[in-house]
Amino acid sequence: MKEFELIYERWRKKLLHTNLLLTILVFLVEFFMFFILKKLNLIEQPVLIYFRCFLIMPTIIDVSILYLGNVMMKHMLPDSKYINYIPVLQMAAICTVIASTHNIFSVTLCLFCLPLFTTIMFSDKKMTRIIGIVCFIFLIITLLYRKFSLYRPKNDRYFLAEAIVTIAILGGTYILCKVLIRFAEEKTDIIHEGYLQQIEMQELLNRDQKTGLYGQTIFMNTLEHMIEIANTSLETFAVAVIDIDDFKKVNDTYGHLKGDQVIIKLADMLKKYFHDNQFIARYGGEEFTIIFSENEINHGFELLEELRKAFETEKYNFMEDKITISTGIAVWRQGWTSEQLFEAADMAMYTSKSNGKNRIKVYEC
Ligand code: GH3
Ligand code: MG
Ligand code: MG
Repeated sequence: MKEFELIYERWRKKLLHTNLLLTILVFLVEFFMFFILKKLNLIEQPVLIYFRCFLIMPTIIDVSILYLGNVMMKHMLPDSKYINYIPVLQMAAICTVIASTHNIFSVTLCLFCLPLFTTIMFSDKKMTRIIGIVCFIFLIITLLYRKFSLYRPKNDRYFLAEAIVTIAILGGTYILCKVLIRFAEEKTDIIHEGYLQQIEMQELLNRDQKTGLYGQTIFMNTLEHMIEIANTSLETFAVAVIDIDDFKKVNDTYGHLKGDQVIIKLADMLKKYFHDNQFIARYGGEEFTIIFSENEINHGFELLEELRKAFETEKYNFMEDKITISTGIAVWRQGWTSEQLFEAADMAMYTSKSNGKNRIKVYEC
């Protein structure tokens, strides 16, 4: 969905900014930590080496990761299915640098949970799985670096215990992420269902219950919409108004329920003759309307004539008489409002009636 792509694009950028902030934060913490550790007499290396190993080198690597991520993001196609991975992998790489460099704080090993949690926002279980594997590999690399690096802590008795606990925490985070994604999916499904129901309800409200055709309000709204389009495209369109002849007589002689059968018969024939591109509505009572776009006008008029002929031959089980329809057509002209257009078609329909009914008249004045 286009809306989703736009949201993801915006939030990928926000994640890249978050990664930048993370790098700045780490730099500042490490800088001030130097003074604290020095006061506590916990610095094991000469000052220059401390700065080089724990401040300058990690910052250079972090900035390179940030730059690489931005470049990749710019060059990757926005619809690539892997583009969402870039900011998350960038975060995982920065976390690796932090966890490897600041190895005296075992708590930094848990940072690998951050990229894993971040995958929740994309609601993609496969992505969570892949990033989970990547984080696990990065964590192993970090642990190996800690074990064999030149600047490893002298007293690292808890290495194995910390390694096991961190791997367990990462596994737990992965399970939690999957649960949260499932929860988000369920919630989205409910929202989606509600939205579909709303559309269905709206559609039902727009429809006439007896015939299933659109009603008068949506017909007039559609006419206005067509006029807006016609004003810019300079294409015209037409409206036909169809009215059953002497319908009162049917009601008076056979009753309203039988009259309803005639209305439903005409509605069914309209659905059969005119397809979805032509907007059919029950304007009210036994009066129907159809909208034809410019390239359908001529064919539409032919179909109206076919319908007129077919309708008068229809047989009803409650009467012998034939029933006919009168039709009026008006083609939209520049400057006409929807009411003017409808009135023109209605007037043409009444001309059909006054000319003897059971015929079609195109508005001419
Ligand atoms: P004309 O040839 O001039 O159109 O004559 P008409 O008798 O058909 O006159 P008009 O179109 O004015 O009559 C409409 C009648 O349709 C009046 C109304 O009682 C009846 N009607 C309107 N809605 C319904 C409906 O849903 N069911 C039934 N059975 N009758 C309806
Ligand atoms: Mg009538
Ligand atoms: Mg009428």
